[in-house]
Amino acid sequence: MRENFKGCLRGADSQKGSLEFYFDSLPTNCVASWVCPGCSEAGFPEFSYRLGPEYGYKNLAVFYNGCSFNCLFCQNYHFRETLTSLPQKFISPQQLVEVIDDKTSCICYFGRDPACQLPHSILTSKLALKNKKGRILRICWETNGFLSKNLLKEMVEISLVSGGCIKFDLKAYTESLHIALTGVSNRQIMENFKEVVRYIDKRRPPFY
Ligand code: SF4
Ligand code: SF4
Repeated sequence: MRENFKGCLRGADSQKGSLEFYFDSLPTNCVASWVCPGCSEAGFPEFSYRLGPEYGYKNLAVFYNGCSFNCLFCQNYHFRETLTSLPQKFISPQQLVEVIDDKTSCICYFGRDPACQLPHSILTSKLALKNKKGRILRICWETNGFLSKNLLKEMVEISLVSGGCIKFDLKAYTESLHIALTGVSNRQIMENFKEVVRYIDKRRPPFY
């Protein structure tokens, strides 16, 4: 994703996303489709245009390059070849936000994994929410969960206020198995699960 070029760091950053994007008609095959406002009855009318699947609307799918794991049997192994064989093309948060139209009701950041470029997706989200002008725009992430704890809080807040969700794809519960499958311990991910629960509990309004 990044390299030291003559003493300077170059590559993806918060203003330069290494990614591809496309639209998916709703309801999608998103892994959270059975609970999300775009595909189920959840969240209507605050976070959804329809009680049930949001036919006629679409999801902006943002497919980030790069990943923090090195899984056996990676289904996205092509990205490693793309990153090493081609000059990277970058997309700014502003450019992404400009493709959002009246029929776009959610954004899903996923990919190989969005974790390596979180500042870019957070900036894009803030910009998109600022520009949405009363429209519904849910923000969701789909990730392996190996994330910075500080940025995680920002993600949770953005998803909560927009009616979106964060999906953790836990590869294995047992640490040794997780290391064998991905090359990385799952301790940080388990901590992040707890952090999300703690954050939501703290934010919940008190009952009267
Ligand atoms: S991006 Fe979010 S709101 Fe949209 S279909 Fe996927 S889970 Fe549902
Ligand atoms: S988390 Fe996904 S994209 Fe990353 S190495 Fe594993 S299978 Fe591949």
